[in-house]
Amino acid sequence: MFGFRIGAATHVGVARQINQDSYATAPGLVVVADGMGGHRGGEVASAVAAKEMIRRFDSPVLDALVTGVEHANRRILDEAAADPNLHGMGTTVVALGLIEVEDGVALGAINVGDSRMYRLTGNVLEQLTEDHSLVEALVREGRITPAEAEVHPQRNIVTRALGVIEHVEVDSFHFVPKIGDRYLLCSDGLFNEVDAHTIAMILATEADPDVATEKLVAAANQGGGRDNITAVIADVVAADEASMPSNPEALANQTVVEASEPTNEQAAVAIDEPMQDAVPKQRWSWRR
Ligand code: MN
Repeated sequence: MFGFRIGAATHVGVARQINQDSYATAPGLVVVADGMGGHRGGEVASAVAAKEMIRRFDSPVLDALVTGVEHANRRILDEAAADPNLHGMGTTVVALGLIEVEDGVALGAINVGDSRMYRLTGNVLEQLTEDHSLVEALVREGRITPAEAEVHPQRNIVTRALGVIEHVEVDSFHFVPKIGDRYLLCSDGLFNEVDAHTIAMILATEADPDVATEKLVAAANQGGGRDNITAVIADVVAADEASMPSNPEALANQTVVEASEPTNEQAAVAIDEPMQDAVPKQRWSWRR
């Protein structure tokens, strides 16, 4: 059926001392988390989220992704309560997984916070997630324009994150898998420094997913590199063409997790809604 050809890169950026972003990959699952909180809190929170998402994806269904977020939230709250150095830590999380549905295979996705998921189809880039951020709320209320949001001094304030309250609200979606579609998961350190047309251009012109993520990170550093930068690409391919990231620098920085490969023996759970794509939030087309 389908598989992911995965590429990944993460970088501290040029302004920060430590990289509080984490990502994790497993066959058929990609996760990006952007941690926040002083001392080592941000790093710990994002790593917990990345690991927990992989661990809970023992059954390839959308519910496993939502459950992963809930377990990660619980663990982050518990660890913060137990260690004063970790008090107040939190993280975003965005994930995409190949899931089984009644009539076949779909792509399941979850999002909490202001990391993003995009999809490139041909030369059209779509933003698939909605930011849970102050500026996004202000744009929605018509108080500022999207252009003003991009340079707003409070654009790093998130309105939803893991590690804040007991019951975290999770956005979940599903998409129809199509061979050739390219999904990008990234932290705000990418899209705050690189405009959507440049992201689309890099995604459309660099076939190798590891190289493409390295180019995205380089573009963010050129743009200022004021935050940690993480980019993970999942290309939808035939199952026998699936592959994991091979970028050695990215591998050195990634959250190491024991991947549990989804197996077909596990019971497929039907999703309630009819199979159709979630509505994209924004769309750009890119021409050479
Ligand atoms: Mn960030």
